[in-house]
Amino acid sequence: MKASEAILDLLLDQNQGLSQKDITTHLAKKFHKVTIYRAIDQLITQKKVHKVLDAQGISRFMNCHECDDHHSETTTAHKHIHFECSNCGVLECLTAAKFSFEMPNGYKVAHFSFVVSGLCPNCHHPNQKS
Ligand SMILES: [Zn+2]
Ligand SMILES: [Zn+2]
Repeated sequence: MKASEAILDLLLDQNQGLSQKDITTHLAKKFHKVTIYRAIDQLITQKKVHKVLDAQGISRFMNCHECDDHHSETTTAHKHIHFECSNCGVLECLTAAKFSFEMPNGYKVAHFSFVVSGLCPNCHHPNQKS
C-alpha cells in the first residue's frame, strides 16, 4: 500500500481532522515521516485531502467528502464549514450545515475557510452516553 492510500484510509476511518503529527504517529511503523509529509502534500494537490487550521493554528487534514462534484465548477470546492469541539478537540467537516453569504460586487470567492467552535454532540450531552 502506498503512503497516500494509507493516509486516505486513516482519514476516512477517523472521520475527523488529523494533524500531520497525528498521521505520522498512526503510520510511523509503515512509513518514514518524510514520505508521509510528501504524500499529504500530494493528496492536497490532487484535491483528495483538504487542510484546515484549528484554534491553535495547527494544520489539520481531512479527506474531501463532497468536493469532487464541485471541482469542475468555477465556484469553490469547499463550501462547507468546519466544527471544532473546544472540549474533546475533534475537528470535523460539517457538510450538513448549510449557509451562504453575499460578497460585495466585483468579488469572486474561490475558497474560504470557516471554523465554528463549541461543543460536539458527545460533549454537549455527556450523560446520554451509554
Ligand atoms: Zn467534543
Ligand atoms: Zn471539510
